[in-house]
Amino acid sequence: MKTLGLIGGMSWESTVSYYREINEAVKRQLGGLHSARLVLFSVDFHEIEQLQRTGEWEKAGEVLAQAASALERTGVEGLLICANTMHKVATQVQSAVSIPLLHIADPTAAAIKAAGLTRIGLLGTRFTMEQDFYRERLESHGLKVLVPGEQDRAVVHAVIYDELCLGVVREESRKEFVGIIDRLVGNGAQAIVLGCTEISLLVRPTDAHVPLFDTTALHAADAVRWSLEGGAV
Ligand code: GLU
Repeated sequence: MKTLGLIGGMSWESTVSYYREINEAVKRQLGGLHSARLVLFSVDFHEIEQLQRTGEWEKAGEVLAQAASALERTGVEGLLICANTMHKVATQVQSAVSIPLLHIADPTAAAIKAAGLTRIGLLGTRFTMEQDFYRERLESHGLKVLVPGEQDRAVVHAVIYDELCLGVVREESRKEFVGIIDRLVGNGAQAIVLGCTEISLLVRPTDAHVPLFDTTALHAADAVRWSLEGGAV
């Protein structure tokens, strides 16, 4: 089993999900008392969020690059950024280390294609929905990406930062997300990518008539697959 390095805390609410998903997958696959070999570097999300808001991505990337180097020094063999948005600086983080960074969008795209789907609706932070870094990575796998309209994007972004990242899960917000998903489906989306690692805390598979691709679960599963490639030892 290879040791994983997690860059988490963005937010810690979803890092908890990563920790649980990774350990449950290892337990499922190896049985008994097996659990994941991993090291977590949890950043202060207050600092990251401010840098995101002011557009200081290079500085935010430096914070994550330093976390990546620190993790590499502990002996971890592969890295995960436990968020979608901060994959904007994935190249900067990867270039700070010599171990692989397992990109969140790759297993997501693979799962969508394995389901025989090509047109997906993307929910995430404004940065993830509106900028190129994430959409282009999905498109490089042959997918067509739809995003919600301006008003709906504002709602999704606000719910992520003002509620989910603070551990607040509101029924009213779930209903708003259901409406947003329905509009994406009305525009031709065959499935929805929960492209923010907190959205699965709010939206359940039964809330939609189309498949939901949960990036937290897919990223965690891919990390375990990678970790166990060479066997349990
Ligand atoms: N965890 C979130 C994501 O997957 C949002 C928080 C952040 O901006 O990193 O994008």
